[in-house]
Amino acid sequence: MVASVGRVEAVLNCANQDASAYNQALADFGGEISQGSSDEMKALVARMTQQTMDMQRQNNVLRAQLENSSDEIEKLRCNLEEVQNDAMTDGLTRVGNRKCFDLRLSQMAEEALRDRQGLCLMLFDVDYFKAFNDAHGHPMGDQVLRLVARTLQESVKGRDVVARYGGEEFAVILAGARLADAVKVGDGIRETVAKRRIVRKSTGEELATITTSAGVAAYRPGEPLNELIERSDNALYRAKDCGRNLVLPEAAAPEKIAARAY
Ligand code: GH3
Ligand code: MG
Ligand code: MG
Repeated sequence: MVASVGRVEAVLNCANQDASAYNQALADFGGEISQGSSDEMKALVARMTQQTMDMQRQNNVLRAQLENSSDEIEKLRCNLEEVQNDAMTDGLTRVGNRKCFDLRLSQMAEEALRDRQGLCLMLFDVDYFKAFNDAHGHPMGDQVLRLVARTLQESVKGRDVVARYGGEEFAVILAGARLADAVKVGDGIRETVAKRRIVRKSTGEELATITTSAGVAAYRPGEPLNELIERSDNALYRAKDCGRNLVLPEAAAPEKIAARAY
């Protein structure tokens, strides 16, 4: 009987180990009991063994269910991420949409304020796009919008954001940029777009070149964001008035003009 107490301890010690070690300990215990014990004891051990096997079976079922649930949770997480991305993406050009622009501009303005960093907003607009659509058809116009979006996306880096602001207008938010640097980036983009060949895929025919105009403004710490957008938009209008295919910075702040006058 002393030996059996040792066996019971061995079984208990194996309880948290893998199933085969536990089963082995239990089988050893059962073997010992069957040699010199009463029928009542043997029946008890047989019941213990049966119950253990039942528990292990249940355990396996639960483990499989848990694994399935984990797989499903992972799938749902991926789906959710896709839906969230889609909700922020423009369907035609695959850059950010207006919602993305609004969200990222306010986030980036907060970061700029906190980190005392610059932030610039460029508004790009395709020149004479209505005429292009009229001459070459809406689907070709769509192709141009994709091309402009791709050029913008390829021309920015890091945390910068490209979004379709609406129609044939795109916004670029440049993190950590000063006005002069942003204008340089914008001018590079304007040049790249103007050099792109617009080809009708079905015939290989080369169509008119496309130009863009842009207005650039720098965030003034703490200002309402509609004021930043308005200054970029005003600069864009001036670029249009000056003949298009042009990137212009916002008009200098009144205090700067005043400082220059003295
Ligand atoms: P401006 O140089 O002054 O900007 O002239 P514009 O012709 O580009 O400007 P306007 O506002 O007169 O026309 C914009 C055109 O953009 C009209 C509209 O049909 C076209 N447009 C807007 N969204 C889309 C689009 O998703 N696909 C296509 N193909 N065209 C679009
Ligand atoms: Mg236009
Ligand atoms: Mg426009």
